[in-house]
Amino acid sequence: MSSDPPRRLHVVTFGCQMSAADGDELARPLVERGLRVVGDADDADAIIVNTCTVRQHAEDRAVSLLGRLRPWKEARPERFLIVAGCAAERLGGWIQKRFPYVDLVVGAKSIEEYPSLLEEALDKRFEWTKDDWDRDERRRPETTGPAAFVTIMRGCNYSCTYCIVPAVRGRELYRPFDVILNEARARVAAGASELMLLGQTVNSYRAPDGRDFADLLRAVGALPGVARLRFMSPHPHYVGPRMIAAMAETPAVCPHLHLPLQSGSDAVLRRMRRNYAGAEYLDKVERLRRSIPGLAISTDVIAGFPGETESDLEDTLAALRRLDPTFTYCFKFSPREGTEAAELAQPVAEPVKEARLRRLLDLTEGLQRDHLERKVGTTVRILLEDERRGRTEDYFHAKLEAPSTPGTIVEAEVTGSVPQGLRTRLIGKNVLDMLASQP
Ligand code: SF4
Repeated sequence: MSSDPPRRLHVVTFGCQMSAADGDELARPLVERGLRVVGDADDADAIIVNTCTVRQHAEDRAVSLLGRLRPWKEARPERFLIVAGCAAERLGGWIQKRFPYVDLVVGAKSIEEYPSLLEEALDKRFEWTKDDWDRDERRRPETTGPAAFVTIMRGCNYSCTYCIVPAVRGRELYRPFDVILNEARARVAAGASELMLLGQTVNSYRAPDGRDFADLLRAVGALPGVARLRFMSPHPHYVGPRMIAAMAETPAVCPHLHLPLQSGSDAVLRRMRRNYAGAEYLDKVERLRRSIPGLAISTDVIAGFPGETESDLEDTLAALRRLDPTFTYCFKFSPREGTEAAELAQPVAEPVKEARLRRLLDLTEGLQRDHLERKVGTTVRILLEDERRGRTEDYFHAKLEAPSTPGTIVEAEVTGSVPQGLRTRLIGKNVLDMLASQP
């Protein structure tokens, strides 16, 4: 076996949780080859740039990073540079031409073939194969944080007019049920007690053997060691009685749901091609709340979609008041090249979009403040991501006054609120032990 120190890998991820989960998956074959993940690009022997294209800004940042990595690569040409993800899918050929020093470009649609593409690319490189690489010797158990992602599907069968995802990720592909359960078990064995199931429309999941998302929630939630279970992002169309019952009857499922609304106006929802009406969305939320007491709902809305009128905006504000979300991601519509919405007539002028975004923010930030204030004096359970910070079951950020043990679930009293989070005081430790001893 070589006595060289292990090579080092640096992963840069742009974008959402799906993208972060892909980053872990992209790193895995290299970690299995013995590379150690490091936080500093300068020290790295290999870098993965995991790109996102949902917003132009994320794509621009990734492209700019590739330009800045030229000196890193030129200093030691044997270093290995990988570009993956959604922008790699959209811009693949252009990236190879513009940045010829990139060693491997793997688009989001090819992620399943990534391990073999990587092996092929590394095997062509003398510097990466010349030593007596003993993979089994160098392989080390993977460790993970207290909360881990498990991707259950890829792609999307929808065609929302503002979204580039179907073009870059393709149609839905579901991972087999047992493969998901095995990955969930592996994440727990590596230290996670909270799992987040991921998919672009996660609740449309259907296993090749016919089992659906509700079956999956129940099965993952029943695995030993899964103290908390979440999922992202559900599509309102697939919120049905089976999913609601599975959420209500699976103790590990957390009482929080991020359910994108996008607009409260039916006319705008139709132009977005979202496949639900505002009233239908709110009716489903009511059914969820009836079945799951204390359920916190968060959401996304877009300001200034083409053709949006003042009255459409009023409909969105009214829907948000009824929804009463614990937090809301408010976006200003920005046309994405390659989407239908970029070509739609009646674009909303920039200052009008800005003003509408402000009105959405004013309302939703106020609703969030009210939620935070209502938590003061209550007892919450926090999964600690580090010594002081973590998330409550209903997905509020929480900070402890005094440090405790990362990775544990502690009980705390909420002593106050800060913008977007809770201040808390520890009152009980090791809730995980208590949960483990419950039948
Ligand atoms: S459901 Fe719509 S917004 Fe979500 S990924 Fe699919 S096309 Fe995009």
